[in-house]
Amino acid sequence: MEKFIYLDNAATTKTAPEVVEAMLPYFTEKFGNPSSVYSFASGNKDVITKQRETIADALGAKSNEIYFTAGGSESDNWALKATADAYKDKGRHIITTKIEHHAILHTGEYLEKQGFEVTYLDVDENGVVKLEDLKAAIRPTTILISVMFANNEIGTIQPIKEIGEIAHEHGILFHTDAVQAFGQVPINVDECQIDMLSASGHKLNGPKGIGFLYIRKGVKIRSFVHGGAQERKRRAGTENVPGIVGLGAAVSRAVRTMEERTAKETELRDYLISRVINEIPYTKLNGHKEMRLPNNANFSFRFIEGESLLIKLDMKGICGSSGSACTSGSLDPSHVLLAIGLPHEIAHGSLRLTLNEEITKEDIDYVVDSLKEIVSDLRSMSPLYEDFQKSEKKA
Ligand SMILES: *Cc1c(COP(=O)(O)O)cnc(C)c1O
Repeated sequence: MEKFIYLDNAATTKTAPEVVEAMLPYFTEKFGNPSSVYSFASGNKDVITKQRETIADALGAKSNEIYFTAGGSESDNWALKATADAYKDKGRHIITTKIEHHAILHTGEYLEKQGFEVTYLDVDENGVVKLEDLKAAIRPTTILISVMFANNEIGTIQPIKEIGEIAHEHGILFHTDAVQAFGQVPINVDECQIDMLSASGHKLNGPKGIGFLYIRKGVKIRSFVHGGAQERKRRAGTENVPGIVGLGAAVSRAVRTMEERTAKETELRDYLISRVINEIPYTKLNGHKEMRLPNNANFSFRFIEGESLLIKLDMKGICGSSGSACTSGSLDPSHVLLAIGLPHEIAHGSLRLTLNEEITKEDIDYVVDSLKEIVSDLRSMSPLYEDFQKSEKKA
């Protein structure tokens, strides 16, 4: 069989078979609209409530604090836009970071056009928000702090508990984009003083197009979609019953398997990192060494173009992702890699590999062996590398 090694689980994951199985009846025999009165359909209301409970339990929240959405981007949009609208009389200042997902960054830019002020905090060289900077950015008019739980590119996990504490000491709401962290790291919304949290099904072996926003009771929040009374009148539209059932099944699976799965992934991730760093010269690990997602490795290879690397990996049946930009249609490298201080040319030579529980040590060996060969080939064709070697010899 042809090799196929999927190491792009931060982009999306395979829907788990047990999740698909749980969903199937809700496309066919249980297709009813949960708002209908007859028992055939109204049973689906209880099914949705059950999923809300499963998700709330995973976060230490209450089920009526879980609002289903169409995914992480919608949850992020909702959290920022609705908070801005509901609290604008108190102030018009929002704090976030330079390394957020575009669903946050572009919503921030939109709000700036609406007359809000947004501070985008710098991060240190490991991608960690500096708490002193956060404190210094707070103004009497600050209404919201939004800091992602874990970064989707470099995997760095933020000091969320400390950030929540700072927010609440100042009476400021705290939102976190936990799309990457939820299902990989235990999260308790009370311990971390989180007021709003975004998550997405397809990043944790659930289906695409479904997610949720946790909104703490007492937070003033505006409706995001106007229409029917679904989601406590906050987000209208006939519920995506199969999606919600799939999300519930994915969350209960993620909770059940978290310890064993992440232990295995962490071990293989560290094996991958140590082999790459030790065996491929002029290579750097991006992101924090310890405070990072169990399945994330992100490297920069000097004298390498990330796009070429991805194409050559693809030819060997390996799926990865790059922080360089051609794929995203812009010439600048990833905003995250620039924010941790990588020069453009090094950021362009980056590779993100994100594991899942099916990856084996043999897979990792194959990937590292392939990488060594590809990096060496690409460098041998690089005039920059040639110049560099000449200058090394002189020195
Ligand atoms: C994937 C991702 C999103 C967007 O989620 P979708 O469900 O694809 O809309 C938002 N934030 C982070 C950190 C992500 O990784």
